[in-house]
Amino acid sequence: MYAVLGETATLIDTGNPGEKSFYQLKSLLKEHKLTFSDFDHMVVTHMHTDHSGGVSLIQEEAGLPVYVHELAEPVITGGETEFNRMNDFFNDFIKQCGADPSVHQHARKYKDETWRDVHYISEGEEVYIGGKPYRVLHVPGHSQTDILLINDLQGFTFVGDHIIPELAVNAFIEPPPPGEKERPAPLIQYRESLRRSRDLQLGKCYSGHGKPFTGHIELIDKRLAQHDARCLQILRLLKQREKNVYEICQEVYPHLKRSIVFLGLSQIQGHLDLMEAQNEVMKEQRDAIFYYRLL
Ligand SMILES: [Zn+2]
Repeated sequence: MYAVLGETATLIDTGNPGEKSFYQLKSLLKEHKLTFSDFDHMVVTHMHTDHSGGVSLIQEEAGLPVYVHELAEPVITGGETEFNRMNDFFNDFIKQCGADPSVHQHARKYKDETWRDVHYISEGEEVYIGGKPYRVLHVPGHSQTDILLINDLQGFTFVGDHIIPELAVNAFIEPPPPGEKERPAPLIQYRESLRRSRDLQLGKCYSGHGKPFTGHIELIDKRLAQHDARCLQILRLLKQREKNVYEICQEVYPHLKRSIVFLGLSQIQGHLDLMEAQNEVMKEQRDAIFYYRLL
């Protein structure tokens, strides 16, 4: 979470759900002689629980309006129906990978939670942070709702989890938007978004995790090269015979167990989407499982 202070005061991200995180943030603010009520609004960089989880408790305490990308709307307003649709999607996805949802799906319980005063933002709009205008860029991939908040005048950017200097960011498989059939191909999206950000002058970057950094171009080049290397590794594994996503995942990430396996499945699937788009592999569905082979 960042506290941006100027003519107005803005919170960027809100920490994990639950009281533990809420009270930790509250006492951190107190060290700076601040309370949640001192802020005018909050901006959520993307809808992952470690960034968006604190919104409802902060609103209960201080009633701050919240700004978030418009693609977050179905989750925010969809209640239990949307929660169940997402759970069903992940259940089917894990089955298609050749894994077992009863072992590998993270058991989640629906928790009724209301966000109030939500302002949906989109690409090209401006949001005021600490009283200064920031340009919004939609950079889907890590999640569907990732945004960059760019301060062109002062030369810095809040990048959320789009770029994290210390770790290679996952591009997570997510369900299609309600009413649509095809799920997004997140790694392909992520690489397109990285290439867009690469061309921009982001200045000093404030990431969702780790220390602020400069030199985003080198970091992005490194990440793109890492994706290419992972694709090559998967190509080599498929030289032996056709494989499903779970089989590849066990070879690439042997240390992942139980529900953590999902992270690996998501990664491998993302790379296979990319390789399929590059005409390197093709898939065939048998008994609800996708098998990939070299083209
Ligand atoms: Zn995230």
